[in-house]
Amino acid sequence: MEYLTVRNAQQLILDAVSMPATDQKRVENVSIEHALWRVLAEDVRANRDIPPYDVSAMDGYAVRSADLANIPATLEVIEDIRAGDMPDKIVQAGQCARIMTGAPVPDGVDAVIRVEETAELTENKVQINCSVKPANDIRARGESMLTGEVVLAAGTEITPGVIGILATVKCAHVQVYRQPRVAILSTGDELEDIDDPVDPNKIPNANSYALMAQVQALGIKPALLGIARDDPVELEEYLQRGLKFDVLLVSGGTSVGVHDYVRPTIETLGVQMKFWRVAMKPGHPMAFGVLQRNKDTQGSEHRIKQQNASSNAFVFGLPGNPVSSMVCFEQFVAPALRGMMGCTRLNRRTITARLTGNVKHRAGRAEFIRVTLSKDEEGYQATSTGAQGSGMLLSMAKADGLMVVPANSDGLAAGEQVTVQLLDGTDFQNDVGFQE
Ligand code: AMP
Ligand code: MG
Repeated sequence: MEYLTVRNAQQLILDAVSMPATDQKRVENVSIEHALWRVLAEDVRANRDIPPYDVSAMDGYAVRSADLANIPATLEVIEDIRAGDMPDKIVQAGQCARIMTGAPVPDGVDAVIRVEETAELTENKVQINCSVKPANDIRARGESMLTGEVVLAAGTEITPGVIGILATVKCAHVQVYRQPRVAILSTGDELEDIDDPVDPNKIPNANSYALMAQVQALGIKPALLGIARDDPVELEEYLQRGLKFDVLLVSGGTSVGVHDYVRPTIETLGVQMKFWRVAMKPGHPMAFGVLQRNKDTQGSEHRIKQQNASSNAFVFGLPGNPVSSMVCFEQFVAPALRGMMGCTRLNRRTITARLTGNVKHRAGRAEFIRVTLSKDEEGYQATSTGAQGSGMLLSMAKADGLMVVPANSDGLAAGEQVTVQLLDGTDFQNDVGFQE
Protein backbone atom coordinates (compact mmCIF):
# COMPACT_ATOMS: atom_id res chain seq x y z
CA MET A 1 0.00 0.00 0.00
CA GLU A 2 1.39 3.39 -0.99
CA TYR A 3 1.76 6.52 1.15
CA LEU A 4 -1.04 9.05 0.75
CA THR A 5 -0.58 12.80 1.02
CA VAL A 6 -2.32 14.46 3.97
CA ARG A 7 -4.73 16.14 1.57
CA ASN A 8 -5.61 12.90 -0.25
CA ALA A 9 -6.00 10.95 2.99
CA GLN A 10 -8.25 13.68 4.37
CA GLN A 11 -10.36 13.70 1.18
CA LEU A 12 -10.76 9.94 1.28
CA ILE A 13 -11.98 10.18 4.88
CA LEU A 14 -14.37 13.03 4.11
CA ASP A 15 -15.85 11.12 1.17
CA ALA A 16 -16.36 8.08 3.40
CA VAL A 17 -18.07 9.96 6.24
CA SER A 18 -20.27 12.19 4.06
CA MET A 19 -23.98 11.47 4.26
CA PRO A 20 -26.85 12.70 2.12
CA ALA A 21 -28.16 16.00 3.48
CA THR A 22 -31.68 14.60 3.31
CA ASP A 23 -30.94 11.77 5.77
CA GLN A 24 -33.39 12.50 8.59
CA LYS A 25 -31.44 10.30 11.00
CA ARG A 26 -28.75 12.94 10.94
CA VAL A 27 -31.04 15.47 12.54
CA GLU A 28 -32.18 16.08 16.09
CA ASN A 29 -34.05 18.75 18.00
CA VAL A 30 -32.14 20.62 20.71
CA SER A 31 -33.00 23.44 23.06
CA ILE A 32 -31.35 26.80 22.65
CA GLU A 33 -29.25 26.15 25.79
CA HIS A 34 -27.58 23.24 24.00
CA ALA A 35 -27.36 24.62 20.49
CA LEU A 36 -24.03 26.47 20.61
CA TRP A 37 -21.55 25.31 17.87
CA ARG A 38 -24.10 22.92 16.39
CA VAL A 39 -25.21 23.34 12.78
CA LEU A 40 -28.75 24.28 11.75
CA ALA A 41 -30.54 21.56 9.79
CA GLU A 42 -33.47 23.84 8.89
CA ASP A 43 -34.04 27.35 7.62
CA VAL A 44 -35.14 29.72 10.36
CA ARG A 45 -37.60 32.51 9.47
CA ALA A 46 -38.55 35.74 11.20
CA ASN A 47 -41.87 35.38 13.04
CA ARG A 48 -42.47 39.16 13.18
CA ASP A 49 -40.98 42.40 11.93
CA ILE A 50 -37.98 43.54 13.97
CA PRO A 51 -38.25 46.16 15.22
CA PRO A 52 -42.02 45.57 15.33
CA TYR A 53 -42.69 49.33 14.98
CA ASP A 54 -40.58 52.44 14.37
CA VAL A 55 -38.51 52.95 17.51
CA SER A 56 -36.20 55.60 18.84
CA ALA A 57 -32.48 54.83 18.65
CA MET A 58 -31.67 57.42 21.34
CA ASP A 59 -32.87 58.99 24.54
CA GLY A 60 -34.19 62.39 23.45
CA TYR A 61 -37.21 64.00 21.78
CA ALA A 62 -39.40 62.77 18.94
CA VAL A 63 -39.86 65.79 16.68
CA ARG A 64 -41.21 67.02 13.35
CA SER A 65 -38.03 67.93 11.43
CA ALA A 66 -39.89 70.80 9.69
CA ASP A 67 -40.32 72.49 13.10
CA LEU A 68 -36.56 72.88 13.35
CA ALA A 69 -35.96 75.04 10.27
CA ASN A 70 -34.96 77.89 12.60
CA ILE A 71 -32.93 76.97 15.66
CA PRO A 72 -32.88 77.16 18.54
CA ALA A 73 -36.57 76.28 18.55
CA THR A 74 -38.88 75.87 21.55
CA LEU A 75 -41.34 72.94 21.41
CA GLU A 76 -44.17 71.85 23.65
CA VAL A 77 -43.59 68.39 25.24
CA ILE A 78 -46.94 66.56 25.09
CA GLU A 79 -45.99 63.11 26.36
CA ASP A 80 -43.27 60.94 27.91
CA ILE A 81 -42.75 57.66 26.04
CA ARG A 82 -40.64 54.96 27.64
CA ALA A 83 -39.57 51.61 26.16
CA GLY A 84 -42.57 49.33 26.60
CA ASP A 85 -45.12 52.22 26.45
CA MET A 86 -47.42 52.76 23.49
CA PRO A 87 -47.86 56.47 22.62
CA ASP A 88 -51.47 57.66 22.63
CA LYS A 89 -51.15 61.18 21.28
CA ILE A 90 -50.44 62.55 17.81
CA VAL A 91 -47.64 65.12 17.71
CA GLN A 92 -48.76 68.33 15.97
CA ALA A 93 -46.72 71.27 14.62
CA GLY A 94 -44.80 72.95 17.43
CA GLN A 95 -44.99 69.85 19.62
CA CYS A 96 -42.73 66.94 20.51
CA ALA A 97 -42.59 63.92 22.84
CA ARG A 98 -39.88 62.97 25.30
CA ILE A 99 -38.74 59.49 24.22
CA MET A 100 -36.40 56.78 25.48
CA THR A 101 -34.23 54.38 23.47
CA GLY A 102 -36.33 51.50 22.12
CA ALA A 103 -39.66 53.29 22.69
CA PRO A 104 -42.14 53.46 19.81
CA VAL A 105 -42.11 56.71 17.86
CA PRO A 106 -45.52 58.50 18.03
CA ASP A 107 -47.57 59.45 14.98
CA GLY A 108 -46.87 62.88 13.56
CA VAL A 109 -43.09 62.91 14.03
CA ASP A 110 -40.40 62.02 11.54
CA ALA A 111 -37.16 62.23 13.56
CA VAL A 112 -35.58 61.87 16.97
CA ILE A 113 -33.15 64.38 18.40
CA ARG A 114 -30.83 63.24 21.12
CA VAL A 115 -31.08 64.76 24.56
CA GLU A 116 -27.55 66.19 24.34
CA GLU A 117 -28.78 68.63 21.63
CA THR A 118 -31.57 70.01 23.81
CA ALA A 119 -32.19 72.03 26.97
CA GLU A 120 -35.22 71.33 29.12
CA LEU A 121 -36.92 74.70 29.93
CA THR A 122 -39.86 73.44 32.02
CA GLU A 123 -41.68 70.13 32.48
CA ASN A 124 -43.45 70.69 29.16
CA LYS A 125 -41.14 73.01 27.24
CA VAL A 126 -37.85 72.07 25.59
CA GLN A 127 -35.37 74.08 23.58
CA ILE A 128 -33.90 72.21 20.59
CA ASN A 129 -30.46 73.45 19.56
CA CYS A 130 -29.95 71.83 16.17
CA SER A 131 -31.96 70.79 13.17
CA VAL A 132 -32.31 67.20 11.92
CA LYS A 133 -32.99 65.33 8.72
CA PRO A 134 -36.14 63.19 8.48
CA ALA A 135 -35.61 59.64 9.84
CA ASN A 136 -32.75 60.76 12.09
CA ASP A 137 -32.21 58.26 14.96
CA ILE A 138 -35.35 56.28 14.13
CA ARG A 139 -35.04 52.53 13.61
CA ALA A 140 -37.67 51.72 11.03
CA ARG A 141 -40.11 48.86 11.50
CA GLY A 142 -38.70 45.70 9.87
CA GLU A 143 -35.27 47.26 9.43
CA SER A 144 -33.54 44.22 11.00
CA MET A 145 -35.89 41.51 9.76
CA LEU A 146 -39.23 41.12 8.02
CA THR A 147 -41.90 38.56 8.90
CA GLY A 148 -41.37 35.34 6.92
CA GLU A 149 -37.88 36.21 5.77
CA VAL A 150 -35.21 33.44 6.10
CA VAL A 151 -32.83 34.95 8.64
CA LEU A 152 -30.68 31.84 9.18
CA ALA A 153 -30.17 29.28 6.43
CA ALA A 154 -29.77 25.54 7.03
CA GLY A 155 -26.06 24.84 7.33
CA THR A 156 -25.38 27.86 9.53
CA GLU A 157 -22.99 27.15 12.37
CA ILE A 158 -24.54 28.29 15.65
CA THR A 159 -22.33 31.00 17.13
CA PRO A 160 -23.33 33.22 20.08
CA GLY A 161 -24.64 35.76 17.53
CA VAL A 162 -26.82 33.08 15.94
CA ILE A 163 -28.15 32.16 19.40
CA GLY A 164 -29.22 35.81 19.74
CA ILE A 165 -31.14 35.59 16.46
CA LEU A 166 -32.81 32.30 17.48
CA ALA A 167 -33.99 34.00 20.67
CA THR A 168 -35.20 37.01 18.65
CA VAL A 169 -37.41 34.81 16.47
CA LYS A 170 -38.53 32.81 19.54
CA CYS A 171 -36.89 29.52 18.54
CA ALA A 172 -36.48 27.84 21.92
CA HIS A 173 -35.78 24.58 20.07
CA VAL A 174 -34.06 24.03 16.73
CA GLN A 175 -33.34 21.21 14.34
CA VAL A 176 -29.58 20.61 14.18
CA TYR A 177 -27.35 17.92 12.76
CA ARG A 178 -26.74 15.12 15.20
CA GLN A 179 -23.28 14.89 16.70
CA PRO A 180 -21.36 11.70 16.05
CA ARG A 181 -20.90 9.45 19.08
CA VAL A 182 -17.19 9.10 19.63
CA ALA A 183 -15.29 6.46 21.64
CA ILE A 184 -11.62 6.58 22.56
CA LEU A 185 -9.49 3.49 23.18
CA SER A 186 -5.83 3.35 24.10
CA THR A 187 -3.79 0.20 23.58
CA GLY A 188 -0.53 -1.06 25.04
CA ASP A 189 0.77 -3.38 27.77
CA GLU A 190 3.11 -0.62 28.94
CA LEU A 191 0.33 1.85 29.74
CA GLU A 192 -0.77 2.96 33.19
CA ASP A 193 -4.02 4.90 33.50
CA ILE A 194 -4.49 8.15 35.35
CA ASP A 195 -6.00 6.59 38.49
CA ASP A 196 -3.52 3.68 38.66
CA PRO A 197 -0.72 3.89 41.21
CA VAL A 198 2.56 5.11 39.71
CA ASP A 199 4.65 2.18 38.47
CA PRO A 200 8.20 3.18 37.44
CA ASN A 201 8.11 0.63 34.62
CA LYS A 202 4.98 1.96 33.00
CA ILE A 203 4.13 4.75 30.57
CA PRO A 204 1.34 7.12 31.61
CA ASN A 205 -1.70 7.10 29.34
CA ALA A 206 -1.69 10.62 27.92
CA ASN A 207 -3.44 9.92 24.64
CA SER A 208 -6.89 9.00 25.93
CA TYR A 209 -7.11 12.35 27.68
CA ALA A 210 -5.46 14.53 25.02
CA LEU A 211 -7.82 12.99 22.45
CA MET A 212 -10.75 13.43 24.81
CA ALA A 213 -9.92 17.14 25.02
CA GLN A 214 -9.54 17.46 21.26
CA VAL A 215 -12.98 15.91 20.81
CA GLN A 216 -14.43 18.14 23.55
CA ALA A 217 -12.95 21.20 21.83
CA LEU A 218 -15.29 20.40 18.92
CA GLY A 219 -18.25 20.40 21.28
CA ILE A 220 -18.60 16.60 21.47
CA LYS A 221 -18.51 14.56 24.67
CA PRO A 222 -16.60 11.34 23.95
CA ALA A 223 -16.73 8.01 25.80
CA LEU A 224 -13.43 6.78 27.25
CA LEU A 225 -13.14 3.01 26.84
CA GLY A 226 -9.88 2.73 28.79
CA ILE A 227 -6.79 0.72 27.89
CA ALA A 228 -6.74 -2.57 26.00
CA ARG A 229 -3.71 -4.78 26.51
CA ASP A 230 -1.71 -6.03 23.53
CA ASP A 231 -3.65 -9.26 23.45
CA PRO A 232 -5.83 -10.15 20.46
CA VAL A 233 -8.69 -11.54 22.56
CA GLU A 234 -8.86 -8.58 24.94
CA LEU A 235 -8.40 -6.16 22.08
CA GLU A 236 -11.27 -7.71 20.15
CA GLU A 237 -13.62 -7.20 23.09
CA TYR A 238 -12.68 -3.55 23.40
CA LEU A 239 -12.90 -2.97 19.66
CA GLN A 240 -16.33 -4.56 19.53
CA ARG A 241 -17.49 -2.18 22.21
CA GLY A 242 -15.96 0.74 20.33
CA LEU A 243 -17.55 -0.19 17.02
CA LYS A 244 -21.00 0.45 18.49
CA PHE A 245 -20.18 4.14 18.29
CA ASP A 246 -20.18 6.23 15.13
CA VAL A 247 -16.48 6.97 15.42
CA LEU A 248 -13.82 4.95 17.23
CA LEU A 249 -10.40 6.45 17.91
CA VAL A 250 -7.80 3.81 18.69
CA SER A 251 -4.42 5.01 19.81
CA GLY A 252 -1.34 2.81 19.42
CA GLY A 253 -0.90 -0.69 18.09
CA THR A 254 -1.50 0.21 14.45
CA SER A 255 2.11 -0.22 13.33
CA VAL A 256 3.69 -3.36 11.93
CA GLY A 257 5.30 -4.63 15.16
CA VAL A 258 4.51 -8.21 16.21
CA HIS A 259 2.31 -6.92 19.06
CA ASP A 260 0.47 -4.39 16.93
CA TYR A 261 -2.81 -6.27 16.74
CA VAL A 262 -5.16 -3.40 16.02
CA ARG A 263 -5.32 -3.64 12.24
CA PRO A 264 -5.67 -7.43 11.92
CA THR A 265 -8.17 -7.62 14.78
CA ILE A 266 -10.29 -4.83 13.46
CA GLU A 267 -10.34 -6.45 10.03
CA THR A 268 -11.69 -9.69 11.49
CA LEU A 269 -14.55 -7.59 12.90
CA GLY A 270 -15.51 -6.58 9.39
CA VAL A 271 -13.87 -3.18 9.20
CA GLN A 272 -12.54 -2.40 5.77
CA MET A 273 -9.21 -0.59 6.07
CA LYS A 274 -9.00 2.27 3.58
CA PHE A 275 -5.40 3.19 4.25
CA TRP A 276 -2.76 2.98 6.93
CA ARG A 277 0.08 5.08 5.57
CA VAL A 278 0.26 8.83 5.21
CA ALA A 279 3.37 10.74 4.12
CA MET A 280 3.58 12.97 7.17
CA LYS A 281 5.76 13.52 10.21
CA PRO A 282 4.88 13.02 12.97
CA GLY A 283 1.96 10.78 12.21
CA HIS A 284 3.04 7.54 10.71
CA PRO A 285 1.35 5.03 10.94
CA MET A 286 -2.14 6.37 10.66
CA ALA A 287 -4.98 4.06 9.65
CA PHE A 288 -8.59 4.61 8.66
CA GLY A 289 -11.31 2.05 8.18
CA VAL A 290 -15.07 1.76 7.68
CA LEU A 291 -17.48 -0.74 9.17
CA GLN A 292 -20.31 -0.91 6.69
CA ARG A 293 -23.58 -1.72 8.39
CA ASN A 294 -26.84 -2.99 6.98
CA LYS A 295 -25.14 -5.49 4.76
CA ASP A 296 -26.36 -9.01 5.36
CA THR A 297 -23.93 -10.56 2.95
CA GLN A 298 -20.81 -10.35 5.09
CA GLY A 299 -21.17 -12.58 8.11
CA SER A 300 -18.63 -10.84 10.29
CA GLU A 301 -20.65 -7.66 10.36
CA HIS A 302 -23.38 -9.36 12.34
CA ARG A 303 -20.96 -9.63 15.19
CA ILE A 304 -21.23 -5.96 15.98
CA LYS A 305 -24.41 -5.19 17.85
CA GLN A 306 -25.61 -2.01 16.31
CA GLN A 307 -26.68 1.05 18.20
CA ASN A 308 -27.82 2.87 15.11
CA ALA A 309 -28.45 0.26 12.48
CA SER A 310 -28.41 2.56 9.50
CA SER A 311 -25.08 4.33 9.83
CA ASN A 312 -21.56 3.10 9.33
CA ALA A 313 -18.84 3.18 11.96
CA PHE A 314 -15.52 4.83 11.23
CA VAL A 315 -12.27 3.77 12.85
CA PHE A 316 -9.19 5.92 13.12
CA GLY A 317 -6.04 4.02 14.09
CA LEU A 318 -3.90 6.79 15.51
CA PRO A 319 -0.19 6.47 16.21
CA GLY A 320 0.73 5.72 19.83
CA ASN A 321 3.25 8.51 20.11
CA PRO A 322 1.36 11.31 21.86
CA VAL A 323 2.36 14.13 19.52
CA SER A 324 1.64 12.03 16.45
CA SER A 325 -1.75 11.10 17.80
CA MET A 326 -2.68 14.74 18.39
CA VAL A 327 -1.33 15.95 15.05
CA CYS A 328 -3.23 13.20 13.20
CA PHE A 329 -6.38 14.12 15.09
CA GLU A 330 -6.11 17.69 13.81
CA GLN A 331 -5.51 16.65 10.20
CA PHE A 332 -8.00 13.80 9.90
CA VAL A 333 -10.35 13.30 12.82
CA ALA A 334 -11.36 16.92 13.46
CA PRO A 335 -12.36 17.58 9.82
CA ALA A 336 -14.29 14.28 9.73
CA LEU A 337 -16.17 15.00 12.97
CA ARG A 338 -16.97 18.54 11.85
CA GLY A 339 -18.18 17.20 8.50
CA MET A 340 -20.43 14.69 10.27
CA MET A 341 -21.86 17.55 12.36
CA GLY A 342 -22.85 19.37 9.18
CA CYS A 343 -20.13 22.03 9.27
CA THR A 344 -18.79 23.29 5.97
CA ARG A 345 -15.57 24.82 7.25
CA LEU A 346 -13.64 21.73 8.30
CA ASN A 347 -10.00 22.72 8.57
CA ARG A 348 -8.15 24.72 11.15
CA ARG A 349 -7.48 28.31 10.13
CA THR A 350 -4.02 28.80 8.57
CA ILE A 351 -1.96 31.98 8.62
CA THR A 352 1.32 33.05 7.11
CA ALA A 353 4.18 33.73 9.50
CA ARG A 354 7.89 34.50 9.37
CA LEU A 355 10.18 31.82 10.71
CA THR A 356 12.51 33.01 13.48
CA GLY A 357 15.08 30.17 13.30
CA ASN A 358 16.38 27.58 10.85
CA VAL A 359 14.49 24.30 10.55
CA LYS A 360 16.14 21.11 9.35
CA HIS A 361 14.11 18.82 7.11
CA ARG A 362 14.88 15.84 4.96
CA ALA A 363 12.77 15.76 1.79
CA GLY A 364 10.15 13.02 1.76
CA ARG A 365 7.26 13.64 4.14
CA ALA A 366 5.35 16.81 5.04
CA GLU A 367 6.24 17.77 8.58
CA PHE A 368 4.21 19.54 11.25
CA ILE A 369 6.46 21.53 13.58
CA ARG A 370 4.94 22.83 16.79
CA VAL A 371 5.43 26.59 17.08
CA THR A 372 4.53 29.55 19.23
CA LEU A 373 3.34 32.70 17.50
CA SER A 374 4.03 36.33 18.22
CA LYS A 375 3.08 39.41 16.26
CA ASP A 376 4.92 42.60 15.31
CA GLU A 377 4.34 45.37 12.70
CA GLU A 378 5.39 42.99 9.92
CA GLY A 379 2.96 40.27 10.94
CA TYR A 380 3.22 36.91 12.68
CA GLN A 381 6.48 35.26 13.69
CA ALA A 382 6.72 31.49 14.25
CA THR A 383 9.20 29.99 16.72
CA SER A 384 9.71 26.27 17.30
CA THR A 385 8.56 25.07 20.73
CA GLY A 386 11.85 23.17 21.09
CA ALA A 387 12.65 19.46 20.83
CA GLN A 388 10.21 18.02 18.31
CA GLY A 389 10.30 14.28 19.04
CA SER A 390 6.93 12.60 18.49
CA GLY A 391 6.94 11.45 22.12
CA MET A 392 7.66 14.95 23.47
CA LEU A 393 4.21 16.11 24.34
CA LEU A 394 5.45 19.35 25.88
CA SER A 395 6.22 20.53 22.34
CA MET A 396 2.47 20.32 21.74
CA ALA A 397 1.42 21.68 25.10
CA LYS A 398 3.38 24.89 24.44
CA ALA A 399 2.23 25.29 20.83
CA ASP A 400 -0.04 27.93 19.34
CA GLY A 401 0.08 26.22 15.98
CA LEU A 402 1.49 23.60 13.63
CA MET A 403 3.93 24.93 11.03
CA VAL A 404 3.90 22.95 7.81
CA VAL A 405 7.21 22.02 6.18
CA PRO A 406 6.40 20.82 2.66
CA ALA A 407 7.50 17.28 1.78
CA ASN A 408 9.99 18.39 -0.87
CA SER A 409 11.70 20.97 1.35
CA ASP A 410 15.40 20.57 2.18
CA GLY A 411 14.98 22.71 5.27
CA LEU A 412 13.83 26.23 5.99
CA ALA A 413 15.89 29.27 6.91
CA ALA A 414 15.13 31.99 9.44
CA GLY A 415 13.12 34.78 7.80
CA GLU A 416 11.25 32.49 5.37
CA GLN A 417 7.49 32.72 5.09
CA VAL A 418 5.71 29.63 6.38
CA THR A 419 2.14 28.42 6.79
CA VAL A 420 0.93 27.79 10.33
CA GLN A 421 -2.23 25.95 11.24
CA LEU A 422 -3.74 27.57 14.35
CA LEU A 423 -4.58 25.17 17.17
CA ASP A 424 -6.82 27.32 19.32
CA GLY A 425 -10.33 28.40 19.18
CA THR A 426 -13.32 27.81 17.03
CA ASP A 427 -12.00 29.30 13.82
CA PHE A 428 -12.09 26.94 10.83
CA GLN A 429 -11.71 27.35 7.08
CA ASN A 430 -12.86 25.58 3.93
CA ASP A 431 -9.62 24.17 2.61
CA VAL A 432 -6.51 22.53 4.01
CA GLY A 433 -4.66 25.78 3.37
CA PHE A 434 -1.10 24.53 2.97
CA GLN A 435 1.21 23.11 0.34
CA GLU A 436 2.53 19.65 1.15
P1 AMP B 1 2.60 2.08 19.38
O1 AMP B 1 2.00 2.85 18.27
O2 AMP B 1 1.62 1.24 20.12
O3 AMP B 1 3.79 1.28 18.90
O4 AMP B 1 3.17 3.14 20.43
C1 AMP B 1 4.19 4.05 20.07
C2 AMP B 1 4.70 4.75 21.28
O5 AMP B 1 3.66 5.53 21.85
C3 AMP B 1 5.19 3.86 22.40
O6 AMP B 1 6.35 4.43 22.94
C4 AMP B 1 4.06 3.88 23.39
O7 AMP B 1 4.48 3.64 24.71
C5 AMP B 1 3.50 5.25 23.23
N1 AMP B 1 2.08 5.27 23.56
C6 AMP B 1 1.16 4.43 23.08
N2 AMP B 1 -0.07 4.69 23.58
C7 AMP B 1 0.11 5.72 24.43
C8 AMP B 1 -0.78 6.44 25.28
N3 AMP B 1 -2.09 6.14 25.34
N4 AMP B 1 -0.28 7.48 26.02
C9 AMP B 1 1.03 7.75 25.96
N5 AMP B 1 1.91 7.13 25.18
C10 AMP B 1 1.48 6.09 24.43
MG1 MG C 1 1.69 -0.25 21.47
